Amino acid sequence: MVQESLSFDALVVGGGIAGLQAALDLADQDFKVAIVEKDATIGGKMIRLSKVFPTLDCSSCITTPKMAAAAHHENITIFTYCDMQSLVRNGNSISAAVRQKSRFVEAEKCIGCRQCEYQCPVYVTDPEQGGFSARKAIYIPFSNAIPQIALMDVENCTLCGKCAKVCPTQAVNYFQEPEDFIIEASTAILATGFELTPLENKQQYGEGKIPNVITSLQMERLLAPHGPYNRVLRPADGMEPDSIAYIQCAGSRDKSMGVSYCSRVCCMYAIKQAMLLAGALPLADIAIYYMDIRAFGKGYEQFFQNAMAMGIEFVKGKVATISEGEDGGVRLHYESQEDGGGVTSADHDLVVLSLGMIPDWNPQGCCSVSCGSDGFIETVKPKISPTLTDMEGVFVAGAAAGPKDIVDSIVEAGAAAMEASKYLTTLNRAVKAVA
Ligand SMILES: Cc1cc2nc3c(=O)[nH]c(=O)nc-3n(C[C@H](O)[C@H](O)[C@H](O)COP(=O)(O)OP(=O)(O)OC[C@H]3O[C@@H](n4cnc5c(N)ncnc54)[C@H](O)[C@@H]3O)c2cc1C
Repeated sequence: MVQESLSFDALVVGGGIAGLQAALDLADQDFKVAIVEKDATIGGKMIRLSKVFPTLDCSSCITTPKMAAAAHHENITIFTYCDMQSLVRNGNSISAAVRQKSRFVEAEKCIGCRQCEYQCPVYVTDPEQGGFSARKAIYIPFSNAIPQIALMDVENCTLCGKCAKVCPTQAVNYFQEPEDFIIEASTAILATGFELTPLENKQQYGEGKIPNVITSLQMERLLAPHGPYNRVLRPADGMEPDSIAYIQCAGSRDKSMGVSYCSRVCCMYAIKQAMLLAGALPLADIAIYYMDIRAFGKGYEQFFQNAMAMGIEFVKGKVATISEGEDGGVRLHYESQEDGGGVTSADHDLVVLSLGMIPDWNPQGCCSVSCGSDGFIETVKPKISPTLTDMEGVFVAGAAAGPKDIVDSIVEAGAAAMEASKYLTTLNRAVKAVA
C-alpha cells in the first residue's frame, strides 16, 4: 500500500518548549512546519512543572500560551501520539516515517467534552499526577492538554461500552488501527528533550521502593496548583510532612549510574521547590544535602541567597544510603563535610531525590545523527554553531543536546530555527538557480 506523504519546509521532532519555540520561529517566517510529538499532548516537561526558577512564574500559565500559539498557527501542523520510525535524507529532502498510534477515539470527531471520561468506571494510577491520584481508562491527559482529544488506555479498558454510548459524536472506535504516513521536509530540528535518571538504577537510594522517597518531578506535581491533593502531603500515609530533605546529585555526577556529568538544573529546581515548600508548609524544616551548589544563570545566585535567608538549611555532605526510618520516615546516612566531617545520619518525614537528566530519545536505528558519550545528540561545532548536528540540514535544540534549563532551551531553539531558516533559504535559492 502506498503511504500518504505530506510535505513541509521543516520538521520539528518533539513538542516540548524547545520544539514549540523552534516551530513558532520558523512559522513566523512563513515556513510550513510539522511538529511530531510522541505524547498525547504537546508541552513537554515544562507544562508539568509547578512554578519556574528564578522568577517563580506559574509554569502552566506561561507554557499554555506557547502551546496554543503553535496549535493555532496557520503554518504549523501538529501530529501528537506519534512514533517516529525513521528519519533519513533523500537528496534534498528529509523523509520521516511516522506511525500515528491508535487513540481508539477518532480525532476529527472528538470535541473534548470528556463525557466518555466521566462515564468510564475504571480508575487507573495517573502518571501525569506523579502516580499519586487516579484517572480513567479513557481520558484527556490534563485540563490544558493540547489537543483536547481523548485516548483510551486499552490495557485497562474493560470494554464495558459506556464511553461509546455517551459520546455525542460517536468518536469512540474500539477497532481503530495505527496509521502510517511519511513527512517530507527540507530541514529538521530535533527537540526530543530529556527524562529523569531512573530510580531503579541506584540500589543505595532504595530503587524506588522506600515509601516517602519521591522524585523531583513528583514534587513538582505536589506543589502544582492543580496537583493531586491540592496541598503537599506525604504520599504513603497522607501526613503533612514536618521535615523534608532534598538529596542533590541523586542521578548525576555518579559514575555508578553511568551519569558522570552535571545535570545543571537540579540545584536550582531543588532551591525553587524548597522555597515553594516553605510557603506551603511554613512550619516545616527543609534541608538540602549537597556536594556544591551550581547557581550558574542570571539571577540564580541571588535566588540561592534568598533561599538561605528564608531559613532553608543547606547541609554540605554526600548522602551514601537511604533506608526506612520510624513511623513512615526516611533515614539518610551521609558523609558530612562540615564541622570536621564524619559519617552521620538524619531522619526526615519526606525525601526528594534530585534526579538528573538523561536523553529521552536514542536515535539509533531511526536516524544516522550521532550522539556523544553521554547519549545526548552531538553537535559538531559546539562553540560556534551549537545547534549543528552531523546530519545535513538537521539541527538540535533544548535538552536533546544536553541538560539545560528553560531559558537556554528557548535560546537554543531560536538559534536552531535561524540555522534551519538559513539552510532553507540557501537550498531554495540553489534549486531556483538550477531550474
Ligand atoms: C523537576 C524539574 C524541575 C524543573 N524546573 C525548572 C525550572 O523551574 N526552570 C527552568 O528553567 N527549568 C526547569 N527544569 C528544566 C526544564 O524542564 C527543561 O529545561 C525543559 O523542559 C527542556 O525542554 P525541552 O523541550 O528541550 O525538553 P522536554 O521538555 O523534555 O520536551 C521534549 C519533548 O519531546 C518529546 N519526544 C521525545 N522523544 C520523541 C520522539 N522520538 N518523537 C517525538 N517526540 C519525542 C517528548 O515527549 C517531549 O514532549 C526542570 C526540570 C526538572 C526535572
